[in-house]
Amino acid sequence: MKIFIDGKYFDREDACISVFDHGLLYGDGIFEGIRIYSGKVFKLAEHIERLYMSAKAILLNIPYTKAGIEEKVLESVRINKVKNGYIRLVVTRGKGDLGIDPAKCDRATVIIIVADISLYPSEYYKKGIKIITASTRRLPADGLDPRIKSINYLNNICAKIEATQAGCLEAVMLNQQGYVTECTGDNIFIIHKDVLLTPNPVTGALNGITRQTVLELAEGLNIETSSVFLTRFDLYNADECFLTGSGAEIIPVIMIDGRTIGTGIPGQVTRRLINKFKERVNQDVIKIR
Ligand code: PMP
Repeated sequence: MKIFIDGKYFDREDACISVFDHGLLYGDGIFEGIRIYSGKVFKLAEHIERLYMSAKAILLNIPYTKAGIEEKVLESVRINKVKNGYIRLVVTRGKGDLGIDPAKCDRATVIIIVADISLYPSEYYKKGIKIITASTRRLPADGLDPRIKSINYLNNICAKIEATQAGCLEAVMLNQQGYVTECTGDNIFIIHKDVLLTPNPVTGALNGITRQTVLELAEGLNIETSSVFLTRFDLYNADECFLTGSGAEIIPVIMIDGRTIGTGIPGQVTRRLINKFKERVNQDVIKIR
């Protein structure tokens, strides 16, 4: 495995950054999780776009152009010869002193890790998963906008701990008003009376690339879609529910807080979307040159 750090490639054991990097000291940085399918990178331009939007929001200067960073991602995939896998692209504020001031950090640190992906076990994609609502609320956008894909996941980690303690793989997070936002590492969708509904990102959710893909696929299937405000009542009474993410893809949910969703097995619409998604991952891709 060869890991890119600031223009050089390192073996896994030697891939280190400074203890003075503000990514480590303060969680000051951003990232993207990107998939490689059949030797091609899925939705790379969209990921790079989102990375730059996160950077702009936190006034972080990425020391590459968009085209330059795209090229480095493709180069990393090529060097690692990974055909199906996952790319973790991280940009931290870089080395500074022990104070919080980002102005003391001269240059952002860019890291690209290309790895094999560990998805949820395949049985869950057939049977669906059980999730809970976490008592940990999603951070309000006027504190830290959840649309910034920051490397500080403590808020989500606290909710993930709740999920694990309840014997679940994921947890739904609500915002301060009690509206559903997303899960700890995935967006959430429900189907209610043949309409596909998902929380509007302004409720406090990441604008997921897989979320966008699913909305497009649904339109192609003539399924009505809407980005809305949802409560737990809506989740409990949904006909179907699923989660989306670059790592998870589309995973059906069959129980939330002990309430059976629909018939308790992954529904028709979810299955159609999973099939379409499998077709789609071989389109919208950038070939490794
Ligand atoms: N929400 C959160 C909190 C995430 O971390 C992620 C990515 N793992 C997602 C949603 C899904 O986003 P995407 O489809 O772009 O991977």
